[in-house]
Amino acid sequence: MSERGVSNGAGVLYVVATPIGNLDDFTLRAIEVLKTVQRIAAEDTRHTRRLLQYHGIDTPMVALHEHNERQVMGRILGWLEQGGSIALVSDAGTPLISDPGFPLVRECRRRGLRVSPVPGPSAMLAALSVSGLPADSFCFHGFLPRQVSARREKLKQLAKAGGTSIFYESAHRIAGMLEDCCQVLGPVREGVVARELTKQYEEVLSGTLCELARTVEGDPLRRKGEFVVLIAPPQAEAGEGVSVQALQVAEVLLGELPLKQAAALAAKITGEKKNRLYRELLARHRS
Ligand code: SAM
Repeated sequence: MSERGVSNGAGVLYVVATPIGNLDDFTLRAIEVLKTVQRIAAEDTRHTRRLLQYHGIDTPMVALHEHNERQVMGRILGWLEQGGSIALVSDAGTPLISDPGFPLVRECRRRGLRVSPVPGPSAMLAALSVSGLPADSFCFHGFLPRQVSARREKLKQLAKAGGTSIFYESAHRIAGMLEDCCQVLGPVREGVVARELTKQYEEVLSGTLCELARTVEGDPLRRKGEFVVLIAPPQAEAGEGVSVQALQVAEVLLGELPLKQAAALAAKITGEKKNRLYRELLARHRS
């Protein structure tokens, strides 16, 4: 395979995206690149071996993970400078996206070495593309802090952020994280939980953050696997012309009253138009 654009005799660092579940989500070019490079730098060589075997690739690997990245980097830079090309892969999805590789890519670029993407899956974009939430403006935040107080603080900081906010979360923390989202962002904020994308038990749930928290908390099967959590921007909270405050009050009242009465009382308290609020509540709780 030719390495266009390399004039200094150095090799290319290919940053190669790998499947996030379904092993067939691998591009023809990714397979070609992995077959032809001198070495594959992999986050977990045992994990990547399964993918390589599945696609008939036998290129030697070197482990590059968050604990040895700085040490292994020197060797990789040496190979590149001597003209060998290297492919960087992580366990799943796109390297550097909540995965190792940032110091290596940065150093390659600092030294003028060519870094070339071989794009493919990333859980955050896969989730965003099916979420039904605004995709014209979004912000990826990776994993929220593990500690509850730090997590809530971060959510408070993001409460007024525009665009869709995207997070990764693990099975251990998904229930707690959604509960914090509900507590901090209130009962009307919409969200999506995308679980096990491209795998057997793929599921994409939509609802308010509080509904999602209750659903996930109430079903142990729904707490299994890998998760992307998406939070709608604040301006998407209320339907046409209905104030966020009126909706919040109505949602609280809905816990105690039938929908019609909750809408009427919330309208009285907040000065919102009763019929408009009733229609919006109905639309939200139709299913
Ligand atoms: N580099 C990867 C990417 O581009 O998506 C992400 C790596 S990060 C260490 C792993 C996290 O991504 C998981 O904890 C989960 O939050 C999310 N994730 C990965 N695969 C997923 C899938 N199939 N479905 C839902 N979320 C997934």
